[in-house]
Amino acid sequence: MTDCIFCRIINRELPASIVHEDDHIIAFMDIQPVNPGHILVVPKIHQVFISELDENLTSRMFNMASRINRAIRKSEVQCEGINYFLADGEAAGQEVFHTHLHVFPRFTNDGFGL
Ligand code: 5GP
Ligand code: ZN
Repeated sequence: MTDCIFCRIINRELPASIVHEDDHIIAFMDIQPVNPGHILVVPKIHQVFISELDENLTSRMFNMASRINRAIRKSEVQCEGINYFLADGEAAGQEVFHTHLHVFPRFTNDGFGL
């Protein structure tokens, strides 16, 4: 059994609110959302850094983020903007060492300092 939290979610060893899954990518709700609707887009292959992904998988991750972006904008959260965020390495703030792209709604003066 792996000790990677995201691999364990992919393998259904840990629960998550999954919003999308295909052969290459899984997307699920962040357990500690910055704002309601905060989603993590995660390649199913275990790689620590985005630079380790092949171009095809990188494209799939960003294409899925775009689809999620459109879905969030149409949803009841009624956001005013969307942030994409990816922490690549510990010094950049990465805490889960399985590469992932954050997609989360933003609101004017929501207090999140990005
Ligand atoms: P990082 O700092 O590595 O970019 O972000 C890791 C993200 O994973 C954080 O936003 C954190 O809330 C989220 N996270 C950590 N553990 C879990 C978990 O077990 N389930 C879910 N759904 N999200 C998690
Ligand atoms: Zn992993």
